[in-house]
Amino acid sequence: MHAELIMLGGAEEIGANSCYIELDGTGIIIDGGLHPRDRTSRAFPDVDILGERPTDALLVTHAHSDHIGGVPYVMRRLPHLRPIMTFATRDLSHIVLQNGGRLLRNDLGASFPKEWLSFYQREEIEALRYAFEALRYDEPLTLRGYSGRSDVEVTFHWSGHILGSASVSLKCRGLSILHTADVMMADQVVVPKANLPRHHVDVLITESTNAATESVPDFPSEAKRLAAFINTIAARNGSVLMPCFALGKLQEMIPLLYNLMRKGSIPHLPIYTGGIGVRINKVYDQYCYSDPMRRPGFEVSDVPQVRLRRDELLHGDYFKEPSIVLAPSGMMNQGTMSFALARQWFTKKEFGIAFIGYQDPTTPGYGLLNSEKKKPFDFGGTRCSRVCDVERFRFSGHASREHLLELATDIRPKTVVVAHGDVHACELLAAEINARLPGTRIIIPRHGASYSLR
Ligand SMILES: [Zn+2]
Ligand SMILES: [Zn+2]
Repeated sequence: MHAELIMLGGAEEIGANSCYIELDGTGIIIDGGLHPRDRTSRAFPDVDILGERPTDALLVTHAHSDHIGGVPYVMRRLPHLRPIMTFATRDLSHIVLQNGGRLLRNDLGASFPKEWLSFYQREEIEALRYAFEALRYDEPLTLRGYSGRSDVEVTFHWSGHILGSASVSLKCRGLSILHTADVMMADQVVVPKANLPRHHVDVLITESTNAATESVPDFPSEAKRLAAFINTIAARNGSVLMPCFALGKLQEMIPLLYNLMRKGSIPHLPIYTGGIGVRINKVYDQYCYSDPMRRPGFEVSDVPQVRLRRDELLHGDYFKEPSIVLAPSGMMNQGTMSFALARQWFTKKEFGIAFIGYQDPTTPGYGLLNSEKKKPFDFGGTRCSRVCDVERFRFSGHASREHLLELATDIRPKTVVVAHGDVHACELLAAEINARLPGTRIIIPRHGASYSLR
């Protein structure tokens, strides 16, 4: 039988994540991401590589932009694809795609052909949503493409990353494949750890985001450090700014802060939230009984929050009384609320900024995180200096290297494919798997190259 893998994006990086797998004549694309930074032709999955190969289904593992943001593009290029995702991902998709579309239309008018950007018009995205098929966790679906010679069984498993996130297993004529996608194997605050099959599979395709990080702290120990930081700032009448990703991180941080307040670990301060995150909270709440949750029935919107208003952003009450402000974007990209607020925070020595997620080296957040008090640094193209405190915390929604290795050791695959991490992370994970499971074939796939999975 024929079994082939080609990375269309996200090889040796976290980019326009997308991979193509052909199983006996049925062509399946897993994810259609938008590159977080690159705005050249590599912004979208490279579907041109596929040539005359069969393309039948597009499985979307979750609604983060680096996995779903290129779907309108992929669907326009290959309109016959069957787009399949979980129910929650389908509900999150249009919020994320509409937001992404707005940014793309604003930023990319110059570097993209107009025709490409037309995929991201409001009406087009709204129409696309009705084409999306939803599939429940752990309920297998049988696919056979137009030129398929055998059935392919597709199953989504809860991957513990964000609401709606899934790992994917594929089975075809005795060959089994598990694609972890973005996976988290420890409990977060709202969502529980992944629930993946632990029996043998032939091919494991694994992410490696955290594989180069020596130790990834757990949520409770980071929460303690965060509480100490908030207490220091609040004691001197300052406010804390937390730049925050709108999907996943915000929904985890709101109850984390609220729990700290209820336990008396930090004072009861107003929590400000804004942007598309508030709409995403409501989707989390809709699924609070039906999807995997640590406390079924808990609603993020039940935690008291004050709305961050864009038109009054620089005059909010958080400048007058100690508060916690959760503002997008997580990396303080230019033009976002966290970017605008940070510049005010810089001037106030009582105030503090708490970074809680990854900062890409090209972003304003990275410049700020690595800056020193009263020393000039680059913040989105302007020289700034700050007197406020800055501290870094790690609340990662990705599995640690040790957890990824445990998975590999449990399922003892014949072949491991390492992706969704930088070159260093991919190589480190590959070397560790090689040490624990000698004889395993390990592939760090290159963009566009073809690999047999037999
Ligand atoms: Zn993700
Ligand atoms: Zn990702």
